[in-house]
Amino acid sequence: MPTFRPFEKNQDKASPNRNFAPITTELDSKERLLVGGCRLAKLAEIYGTPLYVLDELTIRNACREYTKSLNDNYPGESLAVYASKANSSLVISNIVASEGMGIDVVSEGELITALRGGVPKEKIVFHGNNKSLDELYLAYENDVIIVLDNQNDIDLLKKITSLHQKKARLMLRFTPGIECHTHEYIKTGHIDSKFGFNLDELESVFNQLKGIRWGRLIGLHAHIGSQIFEVDPHKDLADVMAEALQIGRKLGHSIQMLNVGGGLGIRYISSDDPPSISQWVKVVSESVVKSCRSRSLELPLLMCEPGRSIIGPAGVTIYQIGSRKEISNIKTYISIDGGMSDNPRPITYQSKYSACLVDRPLADKEEIVTIAGKHCESGDVLLNEFPLPMSFKDEFLGVFSTGAYNFSMSSNYNRIPKPAAVIVNNGESELIQRRELPEDLLRNDIVPDRFIAKG
Ligand SMILES: *Cc1c(COP(=O)(O)O)cnc(C)c1O
Repeated sequence: MPTFRPFEKNQDKASPNRNFAPITTELDSKERLLVGGCRLAKLAEIYGTPLYVLDELTIRNACREYTKSLNDNYPGESLAVYASKANSSLVISNIVASEGMGIDVVSEGELITALRGGVPKEKIVFHGNNKSLDELYLAYENDVIIVLDNQNDIDLLKKITSLHQKKARLMLRFTPGIECHTHEYIKTGHIDSKFGFNLDELESVFNQLKGIRWGRLIGLHAHIGSQIFEVDPHKDLADVMAEALQIGRKLGHSIQMLNVGGGLGIRYISSDDPPSISQWVKVVSESVVKSCRSRSLELPLLMCEPGRSIIGPAGVTIYQIGSRKEISNIKTYISIDGGMSDNPRPITYQSKYSACLVDRPLADKEEIVTIAGKHCESGDVLLNEFPLPMSFKDEFLGVFSTGAYNFSMSSNYNRIPKPAAVIVNNGESELIQRRELPEDLLRNDIVPDRFIAKG
């Protein structure tokens, strides 16, 4: 049977996205799993399950590796910006900011989380393909970089800024027309994407933005997709972006930034073999330099926007094992106390994960089981046909690489409260998100008088 060894000896500490598990994962003297010096089963006992565990050092190492690789490989200025849609909270904003990175946000909620988390406003980038008037106003008021995605953004901003003197700092997002091998749902750079201006609209948008009183076009943005293991699409992207930069500058804009988006993949299962952060940054940097130099363009500030590769590998979700159903010669289901509400990726993208019993990670794998969630959907399965030791009811199961797009995509389906989240470091654990209570779910319910039960 294939084995899953989250505590592999040859962990790539500099590039957490290449590992199965947080970089601090180790065994204690009784061969139980520790992350950040904390025993996972113990955390489950203290904080309850399901529980999101985030390893601080894994997050920080990923941030440092992006910044260091940019400094080492790109001769101009650079800034890595964390895509906070991957997992947004005050503490994560704070960690990323303390590592000198910026943040990209796509809603009022993500924006206030970044601001209150201590991210300097000049390092905040505001995205979105359907920004509301309120969202744009908030972004303008707070002087964050606003990424123009479409004509609607331009029209709304003109309105907002008409009574003010201040110029908005603007980036222009366009669709670079680049395909890459990832799940159909998360390709965004291809021609039929909903995001950004089309390439053939660029010139007229540049002309439209020329000499405007209400803003200054300072950068261009494109993003080609997520969970990408290839680096070549970024070479093509650099070329398309440099071409656009040249046109923009010719048309009178002093564009100083190229933002190449995010997308570096992470390791969810043993066959996943993503490039390291430094390999990715090297290709991106060298391609931008080459594409700019061949057009005799002054080097822009290079920005990139990693999300998953910063936070994904730092996360482990701990569940408690509950019921068991055997269908002889077909399948064995083991049900856990969470599922698609705390991790909607398997049901949404057929994403695969790796898991183990956190107090018996070395035990022989004796059966192939399907780990099912507790929701009323047959598709609510977190792991399909995965090898595990014979497990007991109430044992704790850890699912790895769950730091990105789990909490941020979580729901209250079946009126299930969202899990708590803790951050671990150096043997200490601290709550960073309290567990929702069933009462919290009633908070927004309103009962008009005529519905109140009599008697
Ligand atoms: C989702 C997204 C990112 C981050 O993508 P990852 O694959 O998580 O690195 C960056 N930029 C934009 C515009 C995005 O939509």
